[in-house]
Amino acid sequence: MSDCLFCKIAAGEIPSTCVYEDEDVFAFRDINPQAPVHVLVVPKIHIGSVSEINSENAAAASRCLEVIGGIAEKEGLENGYRVISNCGPDAGQTVHHLHFHILGGVKMGEKIV
Ligand code: 5GP
Ligand code: ZN
Repeated sequence: MSDCLFCKIAAGEIPSTCVYEDEDVFAFRDINPQAPVHVLVVPKIHIGSVSEINSENAAAASRCLEVIGGIAEKEGLENGYRVISNCGPDAGQTVHHLHFHILGGVKMGEKIV
């Protein structure tokens, strides 16, 4: 999608601090971190959110999940971390390109789940 922020970041058209990249996945530091480690993992193809995952694009979404463990290990999150994907307005999704937040480096406080 030509006007999608995370499509542009994943394509290197907008600068970011990349922590992982392969053919299908791009991961970078959140610009407004909510924890000492806050990484966003996105598919390189445009998928709007979890709601738009289907049989055609599921492999790209799944690749994001596959690499999270390795990123967390590299970031030193051996004590654990949280993975969040906001989907739609009630969840507060602000960027409409599927992304998984990896949050860690601190003991999580109040739990929502
Ligand atoms: P959402 O609220 O959609 O789940 O998460 C979007 C995330 O993208 C937010 O945590 C926000 O800080 C991050 N973000 C928004 N714009 C940029 C940007 O230009 N660069 C980076 N690295 N992160 C961004
Ligand atoms: Zn996109």
